[in-house]
Amino acid sequence: MRRRRTYPRCTACGKGMKNSSSKDGLHSSCRQYMAATVDTNEEQWAEAREIVLNASTQYKRNQLEDASNRLKELGFLLMADRISERLAQKPKKETQEDQPQIVKVEVVDQELRVSTPFSWESVKAWRNIKGRKWDGQSKVNTVPLDQKPAVYALLKAHFEGVPAEGPNGEFII
Ligand SMILES: [Zn+2]
Repeated sequence: MRRRRTYPRCTACGKGMKNSSSKDGLHSSCRQYMAATVDTNEEQWAEAREIVLNASTQYKRNQLEDASNRLKELGFLLMADRISERLAQKPKKETQEDQPQIVKVEVVDQELRVSTPFSWESVKAWRNIKGRKWDGQSKVNTVPLDQKPAVYALLKAHFEGVPAEGPNGEFII
């Protein structure tokens, strides 16, 4: 499977980092959170720095939770709390977990409107369907009705076993 492209986000606040000046995964304004609350040795510092740097490109919830827990163990309580705080906030549309885990197919005005869980592989496949358009606002692929067989072939190839809702009710891809 192709890896999802990642770009760094500040591990402390979760916001994007525009320039590459941050080599430690933190905004300069957020670097204060890396203060340790117990005496730490060089090894602990090195591990904490590595965790924070990695977390800036791997921002799935469970990975951030692990990072926060480990930082707490290492004595970096401020940083651990900052990450927990960030996780407690309403999740933004930044992780795949927030995507619908169901396929929805609607027919509107001679078009199929299809939403699916996120997958890069399927994005590529969608682009090969004739007349397909991406409605970014509703996060829906729209496809002319006569492309129905291609759509179902795509769903079968990429979302087999996923629960779905179609014009005739619920089914499994
Ligand atoms: Zn930040």
